Amino acid sequence: MSRFDQHRIVPGAKLRLADHDPHGTPAFDGDKQEGKQRLAALNERLEELQEALYAEGKQRLLVVLQALDAGGKDGTIRAVFDGVNPQGVKVKCFKRPTELELAHDFLWRVHPHVPGNGEIAIWNRSHYEDVLVVRVHDLVPKAQWRRRYEHIAAFERLLADEGTVIRKFFLHISKDEQRERLQERIDNPKKRWKWNDGDLQERARWNDYQEAYEEAIVATSTEAAPWYVVPADRNWYRDLVISEVLVHTLEGMHIRLPEGDPDIAGTVVK
Ligand code: ATP
Ligand code: MG
Repeated sequence: MSRFDQHRIVPGAKLRLADHDPHGTPAFDGDKQEGKQRLAALNERLEELQEALYAEGKQRLLVVLQALDAGGKDGTIRAVFDGVNPQGVKVKCFKRPTELELAHDFLWRVHPHVPGNGEIAIWNRSHYEDVLVVRVHDLVPKAQWRRRYEHIAAFERLLADEGTVIRKFFLHISKDEQRERLQERIDNPKKRWKWNDGDLQERARWNDYQEAYEEAIVATSTEAAPWYVVPADRNWYRDLVISEVLVHTLEGMHIRLPEGDPDIAGTVVK
């Protein structure tokens, strides 16, 4: 058990996001600078573990990132996977569904993006949008999205049973922090491209989203596919939590490097 496991939502537990301080750093005693040093060490470890996973070629890791707008999903991917060989990692962003995607069941578009042997897949948004934004905006009837919790749990169980390790992270920011970050997207010309007219409308539904997240996380945090509620107002702590959890997870996968041909020992390359 690592101290960072305190952010994991235990199956069957209740969840009130208001009880989780987005600004807190409870699993780490040091300050920002020490946190960044620790992160650098974890980056190196993650790089090694990813290479071993790839070399072994037998196991798979799926990382799901969910957050409200400006929650820091992009920054997390940059910081946590800094230095990791891009060849063994695939990132998929799930945006508003296309017409073709909407003409299928909600899991159709995500399944092709699960990791293969030796791969790490990172999902920036995911099938969870279909019980979050879809719920908040009534995009399908309630009876339909409610059933999706079970379908999601079953889908993730399928992946786990077939050898995919799954870790899901909700980047939990405060409403104040979101205001500052959105304002920055307006004020800073270099960040303006990130601005989206819909963001203010979404922000107005803040409480609805908190409720939708609470319910979705509780309904789908399982042993095989646990959710972590990550305090995300401080970027360095957010990155640290996710790196710690991923390194710990990969270490727990007991990756074995292929031994190679024993007869080549002692061979000199001329
Ligand atoms: P940032 O956090 O930087 O704002 P982003 O992930 O919000 O990045 P955007 O292009 O701004 O990226 O938004 C993607 C949008 O697509 C989100 O508003 C999200 O809710 C929406 N979306 C994703 N999946 C679905 C879905 N299944 N149905 C409806 N909308 C979806
Ligand atoms: Mg957005």
